[in-house]
Amino acid sequence: MKYLDEFSDPVLARHLLDRIRAAATRRWALMEVCGGQTHSIIRHGIDQLLPDQIEMIHGPGCPVCVTPMGIVDKALEIAARPEVIFCSFGDMLRVPGSNGDLFRVKSEGGDVRVVYSPLDALELARTNPGRQVVFFGIGFETTAPANAMTVHQAKRLGIGNFSVLISHVLVPPAIAAIMESPRCRVQGFLLAGHVCTVMGTVEYPPLAQRYRVPMVVTGFEPLDLLEGIRRTIVQLEEGRHEMENAYPRAVSAVGNPAAKEMLSDVFEVTDRAWRGIGVIPDSGWRLSERYRDFDAEDRFAVGAAETRESPACRSGEVLQGLIAPTECAAFGTRCTPRHPLGATMVSAEGACAAYYRYRRLERVGSGDA
Ligand code: SF4
Repeated sequence: MKYLDEFSDPVLARHLLDRIRAAATRRWALMEVCGGQTHSIIRHGIDQLLPDQIEMIHGPGCPVCVTPMGIVDKALEIAARPEVIFCSFGDMLRVPGSNGDLFRVKSEGGDVRVVYSPLDALELARTNPGRQVVFFGIGFETTAPANAMTVHQAKRLGIGNFSVLISHVLVPPAIAAIMESPRCRVQGFLLAGHVCTVMGTVEYPPLAQRYRVPMVVTGFEPLDLLEGIRRTIVQLEEGRHEMENAYPRAVSAVGNPAAKEMLSDVFEVTDRAWRGIGVIPDSGWRLSERYRDFDAEDRFAVGAAETRESPACRSGEVLQGLIAPTECAAFGTRCTPRHPLGATMVSAEGACAAYYRYRRLERVGSGDA
């Protein structure tokens, strides 16, 4: 299949691995920001094929994993209301809140529905004028344009029984927070190619300069990842810290102007809490004043509630790249994809789920608590 098979060619992969091996003269720790890249790295065993001195650290770029428990609790509260049809992508139904998950609400009679697009939820609102339809709008810069466009459509069409529970987060402030952490070990970043497809690359050169770390825009197929790693290692060995685009077939410097225009119309930047990490200033979006009528938090007056994370779960450390999933004592025992204690075991992009799925079950390090 074009753009898949040709980016998984084993001969080219071996050639790139040889070039990485030749370039790396000392230990380097790189972070792939995106959960999709984490899954690809683990699935293809790329981290195990790399020379020993290169360590891949998994970053916080899984949208389901970083959605804070406080928002999940608000989703549970809104979804339980009899007048509400609560719509979400499937992954979010199993994410544990303080008191169960959306499946629990559904089993108790709540009208919780899985949709494949926010436009499906808008259509439900149009065809059910007597109900309140709420869409759970989470994710990074990648999912935000479709959600923004749906809210824009709802306003344009005057569909007043539609609202969105928003938890959108942004990559650049998360990178800054990781670099500011005193425990940070990251020396170079593979940037998320699909985020840059939307937003372009202009936000990253100042970050690379400020923190003196190379940043390479990278795709998701094995050869994309190996080329991103190779370019990052070459920069590190040469003492450079620049933003490079290794994914030019999808990413331009300016990104997608139409999507960015829609985002800046519908959203405004705000502080956001990240699950397991805490509040990062200016790290997310909320609905702008013009669209505030469509904010489900305002419409249903769900206030901040006290949240209770499982004390056994170390997903905050996993999301910051401070430990590997196998260093959590609950990994594969009390916490599995069937019975997840934390969001990083639920999501298809979560590092814990990736390690479990691809049988990375051995314990490493001394982090077991
Ligand atoms: S293995 Fe489970 S309990 Fe441990 S950090 Fe991952 S999600 Fe949390």
